[in-house]
Amino acid sequence: MTSEPMINTPMTDAVVALRGAGLTYPGPQPVKALAPTDLAVRAGEFVTVVGPSGSGKSTFLNVVGLLDRPTCGTYHLDGVDAGGLKEADRTALRARRIGFVFQTFHLLPYRSALENVTLAQLYTGLPSARRHANAAEALERVGMSHRAQALPTTLSGGERQRVAVARALVNRPSLLLCDEPTGNLDSATATVVLELLTGLHDEGFTIILITHDPQVAGRGQRTLTIRDGIVSE
Ligand code: ADP
Ligand code: MG
Repeated sequence: MTSEPMINTPMTDAVVALRGAGLTYPGPQPVKALAPTDLAVRAGEFVTVVGPSGSGKSTFLNVVGLLDRPTCGTYHLDGVDAGGLKEADRTALRARRIGFVFQTFHLLPYRSALENVTLAQLYTGLPSARRHANAAEALERVGMSHRAQALPTTLSGGERQRVAVARALVNRPSLLLCDEPTGNLDSATATVVLELLTGLHDEGFTIILITHDPQVAGRGQRTLTIRDGIVSE
């Protein structure tokens, strides 16, 4: 395991700081998926991101989530210059500082709800009893204690997403990144998940939530729009 890089003097108090960061997918027909973008997201903000299908929302989230490297510009997460990190250090930073919630849940199918949340703490170095206790507490937070031993296939969509939220928050990350978290849910269940996320924001979590649904976008304090890879406030 690689140790997390030291934060020296943060360049900014922002959790997310993009400076001219953009991404062009290479290939015979390169795709300019994210135009060079300047953006700061401060601790405690709840930002929603809207835009039509194919506009670059997931590309934006993948850059902010350290899943893809920008092909131009710089990205600082919590003051750490992600561009300067080796792949293993990026992975460690991502595991510790970012929690993801995806439209299709991405839970491990042959692991219980509790194991899915416990496994998210592999990078913490915490003893296993502590990891289990944290996972149980996170499941409690999302109202899923009663299904802790259940496999994801036996859970409803809304229940799976609540487990995914527990997994995302268990390491108390600097940033929760949600990519269409209610996209696969009926409207009543979507409301439950949105209220859960709103409650986490009230507790101080910094959230960036992508949606194509203007109603959902209205839950944020601040909404960004992406069109043809261009992010505007
Ligand atoms: P959204 O999430 O808003 O639907 P995406 O960020 O997934 O949009 O995609 C933005 C653009 O980048 C689209 O034109 C898409 O076809 C293209 N794209 C996405 N991923 C890749 C990839 N791996 N290689 C090439 N082009 C891609
Ligand atoms: Mg997308």
